[in-house]
Amino acid sequence: MNYCSTRGKEINVTSAEAIKNGLAPDGGLYVPTQFPAVSVDEMKKMLSMNYIDRAVFILSRFLTDFTADELQECAKNAYTGKFDSATPAPTVKLTDNEYVCELWHGPTCAFKDMALQILPHLLKASIKKTGEDKTVVILVATSGDTGKAALEGFKDVNGTKIIVFYPNDGVSDIQKLQMVTQEGGNVAVFAINGNFDNAQTGVKDIFSDPAFGKEMSDRGYVFSSANSINFGRLVPQVVYYFSSYLDLAASGAINIGDKVNFAVPTGNFGNILAAYYAMRMGLPVNRLICASNRNSVLTDFINTGVYDRNRDFYCTISPSMDILISSNLERLLFELSGRDDKLVLNLMGALKKDGRYTVPNEVKNAMSSLFWGGFIDDEATKAVINENFRNSNYIPDTHTSVALGVYEKYLKETGDKTKTIVMSTASPFKFAKDVLDALGTKTDFADYRLLSALEDEYKIKMPAPLKDLNKKEVRFKEVFEKDEMRKAVSSALK
Ligand SMILES: *Cc1c(COP(=O)(O)O)cnc(C)c1O
Repeated sequence: MNYCSTRGKEINVTSAEAIKNGLAPDGGLYVPTQFPAVSVDEMKKMLSMNYIDRAVFILSRFLTDFTADELQECAKNAYTGKFDSATPAPTVKLTDNEYVCELWHGPTCAFKDMALQILPHLLKASIKKTGEDKTVVILVATSGDTGKAALEGFKDVNGTKIIVFYPNDGVSDIQKLQMVTQEGGNVAVFAINGNFDNAQTGVKDIFSDPAFGKEMSDRGYVFSSANSINFGRLVPQVVYYFSSYLDLAASGAINIGDKVNFAVPTGNFGNILAAYYAMRMGLPVNRLICASNRNSVLTDFINTGVYDRNRDFYCTISPSMDILISSNLERLLFELSGRDDKLVLNLMGALKKDGRYTVPNEVKNAMSSLFWGGFIDDEATKAVINENFRNSNYIPDTHTSVALGVYEKYLKETGDKTKTIVMSTASPFKFAKDVLDALGTKTDFADYRLLSALEDEYKIKMPAPLKDLNKKEVRFKEVFEKDEMRKAVSSALK
């Protein structure tokens, strides 16, 4: 199977090249030239497999230039001993119709671990396949979660180094502690005096600076990215949609072939796009419920066919969904338009130029027959947390609660009783302050104390990686000016 660009179907690369390059040379995103099929019989076969074998099965359909042994090795390294649950993505029953698939049992307690634990291994194999002999340096600009997840994923992976930049005053105390105490021999973390946009721009400048690239290349390094537009981050996410469906079937809640809904707390559209890919491969799906917070650009898009980012930006209690440009939507537009690369090119041009675009009616209709969009605000999100604790003794994090709340709206509006799996994207401990607030506990003390408050008062277990975070050695203290990022990179590669 080969890969083309959403903006140019004539581009044609192997999966290893797509993963190594990250972004297609025309600025589009790599997509498979067709969707591999998984039959009902194959799903029945997957029932008895563990998560690693299910992952190898799905990955092998997309990454056809990888051998079965290579994929087995990648999946084993990613998902063995790194997750604090019996299986990496367990599915929990809330009611007869409503299930939660927990994607946050990995080392950083957020769903990004599901892909960022395996991406380094896929990238390493891709580098070897494409004949690259340099050390690959991953540059990351982060507003919090992605940086830590990438650090944990790339930590001590041979042949790679990772350098993370975060805005000195732009991340939470817990997020900062998670990063500056990072272990591993190939990692570097720098604060910059600037905001997230400055960090992001700085990284992009480094990528597109041929002189600096040459200098680093002479020293044996080549840059790459662990950004969510990399196909190597998308395909591992397809796995848990199959896996949670199979877990429901194994428990007797559904028969293989029965349709389910998925409700997904959405930001950059990567997670819910993986659900769409799973459906295109044959996973029986009724509706995909796209849940947003007050930054409801996607809700409006699904309802009207007009994407318009010219609007106020809100900082909410589900910050990982505070996004106005959902990059991975480009891949959906490509599919829903019947793979019309010229249309995608034009729409993305309009988005860049005017901040808005309108899709043709056929695309809008295809979208709204499968996707259902909704949003709730912070107050409603907190009410969902409280309600779930009281009714089901289950404490969801703020992001998951947005999806739970939007699903309630969906249920009210449609009366659709199809069994629904809500994707849970973070541990409640990661957003302890707002969760405690929602539960009615006073929170006027330091961040790391919040964690034990949640554990002690509500008798839920704190994830091991967040334990004693404040007692770990701080390894990274350097702060650079925003125009000194090359210097930081250079010093990290000494
Ligand atoms: C990244 C993230 C999301 C959004 O996922 P997308 O793939 O960007 O749509 C939702 N919740 C949490 C906790 C996240 O970290």
